[in-house]
Amino acid sequence: MTTQVPLLINGEFIQSKSSETLPVLNPATQAVLAEVPLATEQEIETAVEGAKAAFELWRHTPVTERARLMLRYQHLLKEHQEEIAAILAEDTGKNLEDAMGDVWRGIEVVEHACNIPSLLMGETVENVARGVDTYSITQPLGVTLGITPFNFPAMIPLWMFPLATACGNAMILKPSEQVPLATVRLLELFQEAGAPAGIVQLIHGGKEQVNQLLTHPDIQATSFVGSVPVAKHVYQTATQQFKRAQCFAGAKNHMVVLPDADKDTVMNALVGATVGAAGQRCMAISVIVFVGETIQWANELAERLAAIKPNIWNHPDAAFGPLINQAAVTRVNKLIQSGIDQGANCMIDGRGIEVEGYPDGNWVGPTLFTGVTTNMDIYKEEIFGPVVSCINVDSLDEALTLVNENPYGNGTSIFTTSGVHARKYQHEVEVGQVGINLPIPVPLPFFSFTGWKGSFMGDLHAYGKQAVRFYTETKTVTASWKEASTQAPNMSISLK
Ligand code: NAD
Repeated sequence: MTTQVPLLINGEFIQSKSSETLPVLNPATQAVLAEVPLATEQEIETAVEGAKAAFELWRHTPVTERARLMLRYQHLLKEHQEEIAAILAEDTGKNLEDAMGDVWRGIEVVEHACNIPSLLMGETVENVARGVDTYSITQPLGVTLGITPFNFPAMIPLWMFPLATACGNAMILKPSEQVPLATVRLLELFQEAGAPAGIVQLIHGGKEQVNQLLTHPDIQATSFVGSVPVAKHVYQTATQQFKRAQCFAGAKNHMVVLPDADKDTVMNALVGATVGAAGQRCMAISVIVFVGETIQWANELAERLAAIKPNIWNHPDAAFGPLINQAAVTRVNKLIQSGIDQGANCMIDGRGIEVEGYPDGNWVGPTLFTGVTTNMDIYKEEIFGPVVSCINVDSLDEALTLVNENPYGNGTSIFTTSGVHARKYQHEVEVGQVGINLPIPVPLPFFSFTGWKGSFMGDLHAYGKQAVRFYTETKTVTASWKEASTQAPNMSISLK
């Protein structure tokens, strides 16, 4: 019998009473790993009510105790890193190395949350008037909501609930219905670390469940990561209700290659950054902007990419895994066809690739186009597959114009040995995360994840450093101690 993925409500992992479920599939085999329920209205109501009650106690828990919870949790996550990686490799299909990285990047956020007392420190100014001091304190918001995508089932939930709860909030977590299994394990370990019942509640579902949560009067703030259309919907719905929202959305990341770059460094970087994780990363490089004669390097890149093969997650030679579902394969294949129809030169076509022993997998192999122009669908759309577009321009200025005119602004990189060119690119590019001779510049959590333009909706670029500002409200206190201060000499400064 197939197991049903549990909800977590008020500290108990329970079976949903919902009659609606969706299968959780292994994308390499289509084997049903579990059934995920679409939580009922009443279950969501109970979860929010429970989170609200838990918050009332949790907000008074000393910050040092909240930090110790994070320390214990970090330790447990490290102990179980490989086990969690194997769970999420089964339902995402990503290879073990990528899956280990997924968990590790989440552990780093928990490490950051261990430092919560320092992160919550306010500011003080003494004597804003005679005998009057002002200081600011940060306080939690209440019940918050986290909605996560399929492509990082450990890292992205861990972007959210550790920092939200370390700040003193409660959270309702709604992971992707396609990959809910790792989140269950993350929350089991959170409880084992000593998290009080109710401060994180786990709800499963899709659009209807998200909408009920977004409009719930007892939810104060929403963190969302996912595609652009859903991000817009979540942002509009949450903010229409005057709720705080941060929505991390889709991307189209460009890598600029200058003629003074080191060719081997460029090639080594491109192979993993383009087709790694089957291109299903919001920071994957999907457009290479070859400046001048470097376009010749596309031939070598084609040879290198053609040698790379996908496979099942635990196969030792798996460079990457399958796409998440059959619909994604159909969509990516259609976009590849559109590239051919619209006149791009398809140097490698990954459609129809076969993987021995896994005829039912959602396979798409590395695909490389040259001669791509900005009006083609393969340039305009976020493909989210192992498909790379090459564009040739004449100068760094032309490359900058191209990147800046793109509606997305999640990540970009430049490869050059010239400090002057690197400095110009860093200064003028309108993208939030810039790599110099590094293809995927994801910052560690003591910075923040800073997508720009269409890749982010909200006013605080949070998950790391600024997450504390997202999950708290600042209060300034101005205190007058006049009674006492009348005893003090009334000094004044005279300017001579
Ligand atoms: P998605 O938008 O389909 O789903 C994200 C979440 O929203 C899921 O939990 C899903 O259940 C929910 N959802 C789906 N449709 C909904 C609807 N109509 N109404 C309300 N909720 C809905 O995204 P995905 O396919 O799971 O993830 C891939 C996308 O996420 C890509 O576009 C990728 O670029 C983006 N992403 C962005 C970042 C970033 O930091 N900017 C990081 C990772 C992924």
